[in-house]
Amino acid sequence: MAQLMLGKDTAAAVKADLDCEIEELKARGITPRLDIIKVGDKPEDKAYENGARKRFEKLGLDLEVTELPEDVTEDEFEKKLADANDDPLVHGILVFRPLPEQLDADRIARLTVPEKDVDCFDPVNIAKVLTGESSESGFAPCTAEAAIEIGERNGIDFDGMKVTIIGRSMVVGRPLAMMLLQKNATVTVCHSHTADLKESCKDADVIISAAGCAGLVTADMVKDGACVIDIGINVTEDGKLTGDVDFDAVSEKAALITPVPGGVGGVTTSILARHVVTAAQRLAK
Ligand code: NAD
Repeated sequence: MAQLMLGKDTAAAVKADLDCEIEELKARGITPRLDIIKVGDKPEDKAYENGARKRFEKLGLDLEVTELPEDVTEDEFEKKLADANDDPLVHGILVFRPLPEQLDADRIARLTVPEKDVDCFDPVNIAKVLTGESSESGFAPCTAEAAIEIGERNGIDFDGMKVTIIGRSMVVGRPLAMMLLQKNATVTVCHSHTADLKESCKDADVIISAAGCAGLVTADMVKDGACVIDIGINVTEDGKLTGDVDFDAVSEKAALITPVPGGVGGVTTSILARHVVTAAQRLAK
């Protein structure tokens, strides 16, 4: 039976690391602050926002949320973003995506100051993930970093490991592949056109699924003793949250596994908080 990798344990470990860094900043009169800018009030945004609010409260960080109307114009949105870019009390900016059609998401990404772009929206930060510079001077996407964090905090050393990632989106799968290459893993990236998913998974030491497809990873795809990290979030017909992994069957073969809910999702806001603290430290220099 696999050992569970629980998000709350990793979140507690990240908090323990952050507490003294936050204390040091506060002693200098700096309270790290994140500004979330969102358009409309979508239930999926609300869940993330509430999770972030709880995490920031526990850590003693500031969080401001601006909700713009669904019919917000490009000028109005850019004015709000410019205010956050220019405000020295704001250290991190998170724009909830997807944005409505009337807004040019690529242009908005480029207008976000890279030093405050704590979830890797701006092309400068995306490039730094590619070149391996994000930990020194950029920001990786929080979910991708959370998947690595939960593995490492549970004793996984990715160096030399065969890792199969399912999903190639710009926010999760693709940056995750770059980050794992930086950690010297041998990475296979699968997606909806992969001819034989089982073949690409069955020799992997680590499988990380970010497809958004319930029941996709079955026990016959998993090597005995593998580590399985499930990023997927799906809602079943009876309204329950589930990941991409057939959890009960895969738990019988894997050595380590993340549950959904209770796994990677609970770490993402901890990484977001860490990025805001890092942004505050860098901006204070
Ligand atoms: P996306 O839809 O942009 O990308 C999904 C990727 O999975 C695509 O590259 C697609 O090719 C691949 N895919 C889909 N079905 C597949 C299949 N049957 N076989 C192989 N590949 C397949 O989604 P995303 O934004 O990258 O998010 C992925 C999942 O992660 C979603 O379930 C999302 O809800 C979840 N997510 C979780 C968190 C978190 O904090 N835990 C954060 C962001 C996203």
